[in-house]
Amino acid sequence: MTISEGLSPTPPAQKAEPVIRSIRVFQSGSGEQHKEHRFGSRLPRSVWALTSRSWVPLPLQYFLIEHCDGLVLFDTGLDPAIALDPRYIESPVGRFLLPRIFRLHIDEADGLDRVLAAGGIQAADIRLAVFSHLHFDHVGGIAHIPQAELVVSARECAQLDAPHPEYDWILRDHVQIPGARWCPFEFASTDDPLLAPFGEAHDLLGDGSMVLLPTPGHTPGSISMLIRRDGWAPILLAGDLTYQVDLLEQDVVPGTGDAKELRASFARVRQLKALLPDLEIVASHDAGAAAALARAQGFAHLAA
Ligand SMILES: [Zn+2]
Repeated sequence: MTISEGLSPTPPAQKAEPVIRSIRVFQSGSGEQHKEHRFGSRLPRSVWALTSRSWVPLPLQYFLIEHCDGLVLFDTGLDPAIALDPRYIESPVGRFLLPRIFRLHIDEADGLDRVLAAGGIQAADIRLAVFSHLHFDHVGGIAHIPQAELVVSARECAQLDAPHPEYDWILRDHVQIPGARWCPFEFASTDDPLLAPFGEAHDLLGDGSMVLLPTPGHTPGSISMLIRRDGWAPILLAGDLTYQVDLLEQDVVPGTGDAKELRASFARVRQLKALLPDLEIVASHDAGAAAALARAQGFAHLAA
């Protein structure tokens, strides 16, 4: 051995490639909802829905996680057909109520396949889609991903067997479409102290990178997804648990859903945030979602 060989520094250990490479947000056009819907109201839903004159912006977002084993969607957005096909909502009551509860600004270019393609992603390459819940504005892209497994909580899936799921904006005809590969899952108990507030969890791919957690309240089977990667702040994709994150932090429930269950889920998420102070909570209809994702992934940039 020469001296120079003997003194050569040990090569740095190869950094293992992270299993999560990126998280991106996409939009299904845009919308508006009533102020009472977003921020809550003392009035019952049936009253504010028909009497409110105040509209506030409602971003319509879904998320793409690039995992080393394939592309994963969290929700699939709104189908443009809702604005283009007068028969999209079968129930006359639903057709009457929709424009009184939502203003939707969407056209063909906002379909999942075209939005993903504009971002350099082919819908045919999506491996899995995880659903926060089954409302129409979250399941509107499934016709474009027939190859994908569609992951939903068993409790949410049971809503489809209720007499009238459409009364709660779960449109069976647009969920149980021919060829859709629905894969309901049951939560399992967990002894991970980090997840103690929830008591149960579902590790999506078994590597701890994407853990599904029960966060009922908006619907009975609503879930959130905790995403963890070394070098990033942890991220909680919270679906519609809240319409904007500051409202969850202030314990302000929206004007829809089960207020008691929402408050219990809010408290669990705040406990998780206490355990993970860097946690970025990302809500599907929050205009701050993109900034929260950028902040979380910015930790990786700083660490690189
Ligand atoms: Zn929604």
